[in-house]
Amino acid sequence: MPDQQLRRIAIFGSTGSVGTQALDVIAANPDKFSAEVLTAHGNEELLIEQSLKYNPNIVVIGDEKKYSTVKQALSSTDIKVFAGEKALEEVASMDVYDLMLAAIVGYAGLKPTLKAIENGKAVALANKETLVVAGDIVMRKAVEYRVPVIPVDSEHSAIFQCLVGEARNKIEKIVLTASGGPFLGKKPNYLVNVKREHALQHPNWSMGAKITIDSATLMNKGLEMIEAKWLFNLQPDQIQVVVHPQSIIHSMVQFEDGSIKAQMGLPDMKLPIQYAMAFPQRIPNNFPRLDFKKFNNLTFEEPDLRTFRNLALAIEALDKGGNLPAVMNAANEVAVYAFLRNRVNFLDMTDVIERTMQKIPFVKNPTLEEYFESDGEARTYAADIIKL
Ligand code: NAD
Ligand code: MG
Repeated sequence: MPDQQLRRIAIFGSTGSVGTQALDVIAANPDKFSAEVLTAHGNEELLIEQSLKYNPNIVVIGDEKKYSTVKQALSSTDIKVFAGEKALEEVASMDVYDLMLAAIVGYAGLKPTLKAIENGKAVALANKETLVVAGDIVMRKAVEYRVPVIPVDSEHSAIFQCLVGEARNKIEKIVLTASGGPFLGKKPNYLVNVKREHALQHPNWSMGAKITIDSATLMNKGLEMIEAKWLFNLQPDQIQVVVHPQSIIHSMVQFEDGSIKAQMGLPDMKLPIQYAMAFPQRIPNNFPRLDFKKFNNLTFEEPDLRTFRNLALAIEALDKGGNLPAVMNAANEVAVYAFLRNRVNFLDMTDVIERTMQKIPFVKNPTLEEYFESDGEARTYAADIIKL
Protein backbone atom coordinates (compact mmCIF):
# COMPACT_ATOMS: atom_id res chain seq x y z
CA MET A 1 0.00 0.00 0.00
CA PRO A 2 1.83 3.14 -1.13
CA ASP A 3 1.53 5.83 1.53
CA GLN A 4 0.52 8.81 -0.51
CA GLN A 5 -2.26 7.17 -2.53
CA LEU A 6 -5.89 7.19 -1.58
CA ARG A 7 -6.42 4.09 0.54
CA ARG A 8 -9.60 2.29 -0.47
CA ILE A 9 -11.36 0.97 2.65
CA ALA A 10 -13.91 -1.84 2.80
CA ILE A 11 -15.91 -1.44 6.00
CA PHE A 12 -17.51 -4.74 6.92
CA GLY A 13 -20.10 -3.73 9.50
CA SER A 14 -20.38 -0.07 8.49
CA THR A 15 -23.60 0.56 10.42
CA GLY A 16 -22.15 -0.45 13.80
CA SER A 17 -20.39 1.53 16.47
CA VAL A 18 -16.91 0.93 15.00
CA GLY A 19 -18.18 1.19 11.41
CA THR A 20 -19.85 4.58 11.83
CA GLN A 21 -16.81 5.99 13.62
CA ALA A 22 -14.60 4.73 10.79
CA LEU A 23 -16.79 6.61 8.33
CA ASP A 24 -16.30 9.77 10.42
CA VAL A 25 -12.54 9.26 10.09
CA ILE A 26 -12.92 8.84 6.32
CA ALA A 27 -15.11 11.96 6.09
CA ALA A 28 -12.43 13.96 7.92
CA ASN A 29 -9.66 12.66 5.60
CA PRO A 30 -11.07 12.55 2.06
CA ASP A 31 -7.56 12.95 0.62
CA LYS A 32 -6.36 9.79 2.40
CA PHE A 33 -9.29 7.37 2.46
CA SER A 34 -12.28 6.39 0.38
CA ALA A 35 -15.15 4.14 1.49
CA GLU A 36 -15.15 1.55 -1.28
CA VAL A 37 -17.29 -1.18 0.26
CA LEU A 38 -19.96 -0.87 2.95
CA THR A 39 -21.83 -3.80 4.52
CA ALA A 40 -24.64 -4.07 7.06
CA HIS A 41 -26.73 -6.87 8.39
CA GLY A 42 -30.19 -5.49 9.06
CA ASN A 43 -30.08 -1.70 9.22
CA GLU A 44 -30.94 -0.95 5.60
CA GLU A 45 -31.92 2.64 6.33
CA LEU A 46 -28.52 3.60 7.66
CA LEU A 47 -26.76 1.62 4.92
CA ILE A 48 -28.70 3.56 2.29
CA GLU A 49 -27.95 6.87 3.99
CA GLN A 50 -24.24 6.01 4.21
CA SER A 51 -24.19 4.89 0.57
CA LEU A 52 -25.71 8.13 -0.66
CA LYS A 53 -23.22 10.11 1.39
CA TYR A 54 -20.00 8.15 0.68
CA ASN A 55 -20.78 6.78 -2.78
CA PRO A 56 -19.04 3.39 -2.38
CA ASN A 57 -18.37 1.05 -5.25
CA ILE A 58 -20.25 -1.87 -3.62
CA VAL A 59 -22.68 -2.36 -0.74
CA VAL A 60 -23.84 -5.62 0.83
CA ILE A 61 -26.97 -6.03 2.91
CA GLY A 62 -26.75 -9.25 4.92
CA ASP A 63 -30.48 -9.74 5.30
CA GLU A 64 -31.64 -10.86 1.84
CA LYS A 65 -35.22 -9.73 2.47
CA LYS A 66 -33.94 -6.16 2.40
CA TYR A 67 -32.19 -6.40 -0.94
CA SER A 68 -34.96 -4.82 -3.03
CA THR A 69 -35.33 -1.87 -0.65
CA VAL A 70 -31.61 -1.10 -0.84
CA LYS A 71 -31.43 -1.71 -4.60
CA GLN A 72 -34.42 0.56 -5.20
CA ALA A 73 -33.08 3.37 -3.01
CA LEU A 74 -29.74 3.31 -4.84
CA SER A 75 -31.18 2.85 -8.34
CA SER A 76 -30.20 6.34 -9.44
CA THR A 77 -26.53 5.66 -8.54
CA ASP A 78 -24.00 3.24 -10.01
CA ILE A 79 -23.40 1.56 -6.64
CA LYS A 80 -23.50 -2.23 -6.94
CA VAL A 81 -25.79 -3.92 -4.42
CA PHE A 82 -25.39 -7.49 -3.17
CA ALA A 83 -27.22 -9.41 -0.45
CA GLY A 84 -26.69 -12.40 1.83
CA GLU A 85 -24.00 -14.05 3.86
CA LYS A 86 -22.18 -15.53 0.85
CA ALA A 87 -22.00 -12.10 -0.79
CA LEU A 88 -19.89 -10.88 2.15
CA GLU A 89 -17.27 -13.50 1.30
CA GLU A 90 -17.52 -12.86 -2.43
CA VAL A 91 -17.02 -9.12 -2.04
CA ALA A 92 -14.15 -9.69 0.41
CA SER A 93 -12.51 -11.71 -2.39
CA MET A 94 -12.80 -8.92 -4.98
CA ASP A 95 -9.96 -6.64 -5.96
CA VAL A 96 -11.78 -3.38 -5.27
CA TYR A 97 -10.21 -2.30 -1.99
CA ASP A 98 -6.85 -2.04 -0.20
CA LEU A 99 -7.79 -2.55 3.45
CA MET A 100 -10.67 -4.31 5.15
CA LEU A 101 -11.93 -2.83 8.39
CA ALA A 102 -13.34 -5.97 9.99
CA ALA A 103 -16.08 -4.41 12.14
CA ILE A 104 -18.80 -7.06 12.00
CA VAL A 105 -19.70 -8.29 15.48
CA GLY A 106 -19.25 -11.93 16.51
CA TYR A 107 -18.53 -15.17 14.69
CA ALA A 108 -20.16 -13.77 11.52
CA GLY A 109 -17.00 -11.72 10.95
CA LEU A 110 -14.67 -14.71 10.64
CA LYS A 111 -15.32 -15.94 7.09
CA PRO A 112 -15.21 -12.56 5.30
CA THR A 113 -11.99 -11.71 7.16
CA LEU A 114 -10.38 -14.99 6.09
CA LYS A 115 -11.35 -14.17 2.50
CA ALA A 116 -9.74 -10.73 2.76
CA ILE A 117 -6.50 -12.35 3.94
CA GLU A 118 -6.58 -14.96 1.16
CA ASN A 119 -7.16 -12.02 -1.19
CA GLY A 120 -3.91 -10.41 0.05
CA LYS A 121 -5.70 -7.41 1.58
CA ALA A 122 -4.54 -5.71 4.76
CA VAL A 123 -6.94 -6.15 7.67
CA ALA A 124 -7.71 -3.61 10.39
CA LEU A 125 -9.25 -5.97 12.91
CA ALA A 126 -11.97 -4.82 15.29
CA ASN A 127 -13.75 -8.18 15.27
CA LYS A 128 -11.95 -9.93 18.15
CA GLU A 129 -14.18 -13.01 17.89
CA THR A 130 -12.37 -13.89 14.64
CA LEU A 131 -9.16 -14.53 16.60
CA VAL A 132 -10.94 -16.12 19.55
CA VAL A 133 -12.53 -18.73 17.30
CA ALA A 134 -9.67 -19.54 14.91
CA GLY A 135 -6.71 -17.33 15.81
CA ASP A 136 -4.06 -19.90 14.88
CA ILE A 137 -5.45 -20.36 11.37
CA VAL A 138 -6.11 -16.65 10.80
CA MET A 139 -2.60 -15.61 11.85
CA ARG A 140 -0.97 -18.46 9.92
CA LYS A 141 -2.82 -17.40 6.79
CA ALA A 142 -1.83 -13.78 7.36
CA VAL A 143 1.84 -14.86 7.34
CA GLU A 144 1.30 -17.06 4.32
CA TYR A 145 -0.36 -14.27 2.32
CA ARG A 146 1.95 -11.57 3.76
CA VAL A 147 -0.99 -9.59 5.03
CA PRO A 148 -0.70 -7.19 7.96
CA VAL A 149 -3.34 -7.64 10.66
CA ILE A 150 -3.54 -4.33 12.48
CA PRO A 151 -5.54 -4.32 15.69
CA VAL A 152 -8.37 -1.83 16.24
CA ASP A 153 -9.38 -3.00 19.72
CA SER A 154 -8.04 -0.19 21.91
CA GLU A 155 -5.95 -2.45 24.18
CA HIS A 156 -4.35 -4.25 21.27
CA SER A 157 -3.80 -1.03 19.39
CA ALA A 158 -2.01 0.22 22.51
CA ILE A 159 0.24 -2.83 22.60
CA PHE A 160 0.84 -2.64 18.86
CA GLN A 161 1.85 1.02 19.23
CA CYS A 162 4.18 0.17 22.14
CA LEU A 163 5.85 -2.46 19.95
CA VAL A 164 6.67 -0.16 17.04
CA GLY A 165 10.47 -0.15 16.79
CA GLU A 166 10.83 -3.14 19.15
CA ALA A 167 10.77 -5.96 16.58
CA ARG A 168 13.99 -7.53 17.88
CA ASN A 169 13.13 -7.20 21.54
CA LYS A 170 11.39 -9.89 23.51
CA ILE A 171 8.17 -9.21 25.37
CA GLU A 172 8.27 -10.33 29.00
CA LYS A 173 4.57 -9.76 29.45
CA ILE A 174 1.71 -7.54 28.42
CA VAL A 175 -0.76 -5.88 30.76
CA LEU A 176 -4.27 -5.50 29.38
CA THR A 177 -6.20 -2.80 31.17
CA ALA A 178 -9.91 -3.28 31.90
CA SER A 179 -12.32 -0.55 32.95
CA GLY A 180 -14.15 -3.07 35.13
CA GLY A 181 -17.44 -2.14 33.46
CA PRO A 182 -20.58 -0.77 35.10
CA PHE A 183 -20.60 -3.37 37.88
CA LEU A 184 -17.08 -2.94 39.21
CA GLY A 185 -17.04 -3.79 42.92
CA LYS A 186 -20.47 -5.47 42.83
CA LYS A 187 -21.08 -8.99 44.13
CA PRO A 188 -23.27 -11.87 42.82
CA ASN A 189 -26.21 -10.99 45.10
CA TYR A 190 -26.38 -7.66 43.24
CA LEU A 191 -25.62 -9.01 39.77
CA VAL A 192 -28.41 -11.57 39.85
CA ASN A 193 -30.93 -8.74 39.60
CA VAL A 194 -29.33 -6.44 37.04
CA LYS A 195 -31.38 -5.75 33.97
CA ARG A 196 -30.46 -5.30 30.35
CA GLU A 197 -30.82 -1.50 30.48
CA HIS A 198 -28.48 -1.30 33.45
CA ALA A 199 -25.85 -3.55 31.86
CA LEU A 200 -25.96 -1.52 28.65
CA GLN A 201 -24.69 1.59 30.46
CA HIS A 202 -20.91 1.49 30.14
CA PRO A 203 -19.06 4.12 32.21
CA ASN A 204 -16.33 5.02 29.67
CA TRP A 205 -17.10 3.66 26.20
CA SER A 206 -20.11 3.85 23.91
CA MET A 207 -20.19 0.60 21.91
CA GLY A 208 -22.48 -1.98 20.29
CA ALA A 209 -24.81 -4.00 22.52
CA LYS A 210 -22.90 -7.29 22.47
CA ILE A 211 -19.50 -5.89 23.46
CA THR A 212 -21.17 -3.69 26.09
CA ILE A 213 -22.64 -6.76 27.79
CA ASP A 214 -19.29 -8.54 27.41
CA SER A 215 -17.67 -5.58 29.17
CA ALA A 216 -20.18 -5.81 32.03
CA THR A 217 -19.45 -9.55 32.52
CA LEU A 218 -15.68 -9.13 31.89
CA MET A 219 -15.96 -11.71 29.09
CA ASN A 220 -14.71 -8.93 26.85
CA LYS A 221 -11.38 -8.95 28.69
CA GLY A 222 -11.23 -12.73 28.39
CA LEU A 223 -11.83 -12.51 24.64
CA GLU A 224 -9.12 -9.86 24.51
CA MET A 225 -6.60 -12.09 26.31
CA ILE A 226 -7.14 -14.73 23.62
CA GLU A 227 -7.02 -12.06 20.90
CA ALA A 228 -3.68 -10.83 22.32
CA LYS A 229 -2.23 -14.33 22.42
CA TRP A 230 -2.66 -14.68 18.66
CA LEU A 231 -1.87 -11.12 17.62
CA PHE A 232 1.39 -10.95 19.55
CA ASN A 233 2.32 -14.63 19.65
CA LEU A 234 2.32 -14.89 23.46
CA GLN A 235 2.06 -17.68 26.01
CA PRO A 236 -0.97 -17.47 28.33
CA ASP A 237 1.22 -16.64 31.36
CA GLN A 238 2.59 -13.57 29.57
CA ILE A 239 -0.86 -11.95 29.53
CA GLN A 240 -2.02 -10.12 32.64
CA VAL A 241 -5.23 -8.20 33.23
CA VAL A 242 -5.42 -5.21 35.54
CA VAL A 243 -8.54 -3.19 36.31
CA HIS A 244 -7.99 0.49 35.60
CA PRO A 245 -11.36 2.23 35.94
CA GLN A 246 -10.33 5.53 34.33
CA SER A 247 -9.51 3.87 30.94
CA ILE A 248 -6.63 6.28 30.28
CA ILE A 249 -3.85 3.72 29.95
CA HIS A 250 -5.09 1.53 27.12
CA SER A 251 -2.57 -1.26 27.81
CA MET A 252 1.14 -1.85 28.43
CA VAL A 253 4.10 -3.93 27.36
CA GLN A 254 6.86 -5.01 29.74
CA PHE A 255 10.17 -5.90 28.07
CA GLU A 256 12.95 -8.21 29.22
CA ASP A 257 14.78 -5.40 31.01
CA GLY A 258 11.70 -4.66 33.10
CA SER A 259 10.93 -1.44 31.25
CA ILE A 260 7.22 -0.87 30.71
CA LYS A 261 5.73 1.10 27.84
CA ALA A 262 2.13 2.29 28.05
CA GLN A 263 -0.07 3.94 25.47
CA MET A 264 -2.44 6.55 26.86
CA GLY A 265 -5.22 8.83 25.76
CA LEU A 266 -8.86 9.61 26.33
CA PRO A 267 -11.15 6.64 25.71
CA ASP A 268 -12.19 7.29 22.11
CA MET A 269 -12.29 4.47 19.56
CA LYS A 270 -11.75 6.87 16.69
CA LEU A 271 -8.07 7.04 17.55
CA PRO A 272 -7.29 3.29 17.25
CA ILE A 273 -9.58 3.11 14.20
CA GLN A 274 -7.71 5.96 12.51
CA TYR A 275 -4.33 4.56 13.55
CA ALA A 276 -5.13 1.15 12.02
CA MET A 277 -6.45 2.68 8.81
CA ALA A 278 -3.48 5.03 8.35
CA PHE A 279 -0.70 2.75 9.67
CA PRO A 280 2.25 3.24 9.59
CA GLN A 281 1.45 6.95 9.36
CA ARG A 282 0.00 9.04 12.16
CA ILE A 283 -2.37 11.67 10.87
CA PRO A 284 -3.57 14.83 12.61
CA ASN A 285 -7.11 15.13 13.98
CA ASN A 286 -9.19 17.33 16.25
CA PHE A 287 -10.18 14.65 18.79
CA PRO A 288 -10.26 15.90 22.41
CA ARG A 289 -6.85 15.73 24.13
CA LEU A 290 -6.01 14.22 27.49
CA ASP A 291 -5.51 16.81 30.23
CA PHE A 292 -3.51 15.33 33.12
CA LYS A 293 -4.88 17.96 35.49
CA LYS A 294 -8.28 16.30 35.14
CA PHE A 295 -6.92 12.78 35.67
CA ASN A 296 -4.66 13.05 38.67
CA ASN A 297 -5.62 9.69 40.11
CA LEU A 298 -4.99 6.70 37.87
CA THR A 299 -5.76 3.54 39.83
CA PHE A 300 -5.15 -0.18 39.34
CA GLU A 301 -6.63 -3.26 40.97
CA GLU A 302 -6.97 -7.02 40.51
CA PRO A 303 -10.01 -8.30 38.61
CA ASP A 304 -12.54 -10.13 40.81
CA LEU A 305 -12.54 -13.55 39.16
CA ARG A 306 -14.88 -15.08 41.74
CA THR A 307 -17.64 -12.64 40.95
CA PHE A 308 -16.94 -12.20 37.25
CA ARG A 309 -16.58 -15.88 36.46
CA ASN A 310 -16.72 -15.35 32.71
CA LEU A 311 -13.18 -14.05 32.89
CA ALA A 312 -12.09 -17.18 34.77
CA LEU A 313 -13.75 -19.34 32.08
CA ALA A 314 -11.96 -17.39 29.36
CA ILE A 315 -8.62 -17.90 31.12
CA GLU A 316 -9.37 -21.62 31.19
CA ALA A 317 -10.09 -21.51 27.44
CA LEU A 318 -6.92 -19.52 26.83
CA ASP A 319 -4.84 -22.08 28.79
CA LYS A 320 -6.36 -25.21 27.23
CA GLY A 321 -6.65 -23.84 23.70
CA GLY A 322 -7.88 -26.17 20.94
CA ASN A 323 -11.55 -25.65 20.15
CA LEU A 324 -12.39 -24.48 23.69
CA PRO A 325 -12.21 -20.72 22.93
CA ALA A 326 -14.48 -21.26 19.90
CA VAL A 327 -16.95 -23.21 22.04
CA MET A 328 -16.85 -20.57 24.75
CA ASN A 329 -17.34 -17.79 22.22
CA ALA A 330 -20.36 -19.46 20.64
CA ALA A 331 -22.01 -20.14 24.00
CA ASN A 332 -21.30 -16.57 25.03
CA GLU A 333 -22.92 -15.16 21.89
CA VAL A 334 -26.05 -17.24 22.51
CA ALA A 335 -26.11 -16.25 26.20
CA VAL A 336 -25.59 -12.53 25.53
CA TYR A 337 -28.37 -12.34 22.93
CA ALA A 338 -30.67 -14.27 25.31
CA PHE A 339 -29.85 -11.78 28.08
CA LEU A 340 -30.52 -8.88 25.69
CA ARG A 341 -33.95 -10.40 25.04
CA ASN A 342 -34.56 -10.82 28.79
CA ARG A 343 -34.54 -14.62 28.48
CA VAL A 344 -31.83 -15.26 31.08
CA ASN A 345 -30.50 -13.28 34.01
CA PHE A 346 -27.03 -11.82 34.26
CA LEU A 347 -25.46 -14.71 36.19
CA ASP A 348 -27.19 -17.39 34.09
CA MET A 349 -25.00 -16.33 31.19
CA THR A 350 -21.97 -17.78 32.98
CA ASP A 351 -23.73 -21.09 33.68
CA VAL A 352 -24.70 -21.46 30.02
CA ILE A 353 -21.11 -20.89 28.94
CA GLU A 354 -19.63 -23.17 31.59
CA ARG A 355 -21.99 -26.07 30.86
CA THR A 356 -21.40 -25.75 27.12
CA MET A 357 -17.63 -25.75 27.63
CA GLN A 358 -17.94 -28.93 29.69
CA LYS A 359 -20.20 -30.66 27.18
CA ILE A 360 -18.68 -30.12 23.73
CA PRO A 361 -15.88 -32.64 23.00
CA PHE A 362 -12.40 -31.15 23.17
CA VAL A 363 -10.37 -31.05 19.94
CA LYS A 364 -6.71 -30.21 20.44
CA ASN A 365 -5.68 -29.08 16.95
CA PRO A 366 -8.87 -28.28 15.05
CA THR A 367 -9.04 -27.70 11.32
CA LEU A 368 -11.06 -24.71 10.14
CA GLU A 369 -13.96 -27.07 9.43
CA GLU A 370 -13.74 -28.39 13.00
CA TYR A 371 -13.82 -24.85 14.37
CA PHE A 372 -17.01 -24.24 12.39
CA GLU A 373 -18.48 -27.50 13.70
CA SER A 374 -17.55 -26.68 17.31
CA ASP A 375 -19.21 -23.29 16.92
CA GLY A 376 -22.39 -24.91 15.61
CA GLU A 377 -22.51 -27.64 18.27
CA ALA A 378 -21.91 -25.13 21.06
CA ARG A 379 -24.65 -22.82 19.77
CA THR A 380 -27.16 -25.67 19.62
CA TYR A 381 -26.26 -26.89 23.09
CA ALA A 382 -26.33 -23.41 24.65
CA ALA A 383 -29.68 -22.62 23.01
CA ASP A 384 -31.04 -25.92 24.37
CA ILE A 385 -30.03 -25.00 27.91
CA ILE A 386 -31.84 -21.69 27.58
CA LYS A 387 -34.72 -23.36 25.71
CA LEU A 388 -34.57 -20.83 22.90
P1 NAD B 1 -22.25 -3.18 16.50
O1 NAD B 1 -23.26 -4.15 16.99
O2 NAD B 1 -22.43 -1.75 16.82
O3 NAD B 1 -22.14 -3.32 14.91
C1 NAD B 1 -22.00 -4.55 14.30
C2 NAD B 1 -21.96 -4.42 12.79
O4 NAD B 1 -21.92 -5.75 12.27
C3 NAD B 1 -23.20 -3.76 12.18
O5 NAD B 1 -22.83 -3.03 11.03
C4 NAD B 1 -24.08 -4.94 11.78
O6 NAD B 1 -24.90 -4.66 10.66
C5 NAD B 1 -23.05 -5.98 11.42
N1 NAD B 1 -23.52 -7.35 11.67
C6 NAD B 1 -24.10 -7.81 12.81
N2 NAD B 1 -24.40 -9.11 12.68
C7 NAD B 1 -24.00 -9.48 11.45
C8 NAD B 1 -24.07 -10.70 10.72
N3 NAD B 1 -24.60 -11.81 11.24
N4 NAD B 1 -23.56 -10.72 9.46
C9 NAD B 1 -23.04 -9.61 8.92
N5 NAD B 1 -22.96 -8.41 9.55
C10 NAD B 1 -23.43 -8.37 10.81
O7 NAD B 1 -20.84 -3.71 17.00
P2 NAD B 1 -19.54 -2.85 17.37
O8 NAD B 1 -19.64 -2.39 18.76
O9 NAD B 1 -19.26 -1.88 16.29
O10 NAD B 1 -18.43 -3.99 17.36
C11 NAD B 1 -17.93 -4.58 16.17
C12 NAD B 1 -16.74 -5.47 16.51
O11 NAD B 1 -15.69 -4.64 16.98
C13 NAD B 1 -17.02 -6.48 17.63
O12 NAD B 1 -16.35 -7.67 17.35
C14 NAD B 1 -16.44 -5.82 18.86
O13 NAD B 1 -16.00 -6.74 19.82
C15 NAD B 1 -15.28 -5.05 18.27
N6 NAD B 1 -14.91 -3.86 19.05
C16 NAD B 1 -15.79 -2.85 19.20
C17 NAD B 1 -15.47 -1.73 19.95
C18 NAD B 1 -16.43 -0.58 20.12
O14 NAD B 1 -16.06 0.44 20.66
N7 NAD B 1 -17.66 -0.69 19.66
C19 NAD B 1 -14.21 -1.67 20.56
C20 NAD B 1 -13.32 -2.72 20.39
C21 NAD B 1 -13.68 -3.81 19.63
MG1 MG C 1 -11.07 -3.47 23.96
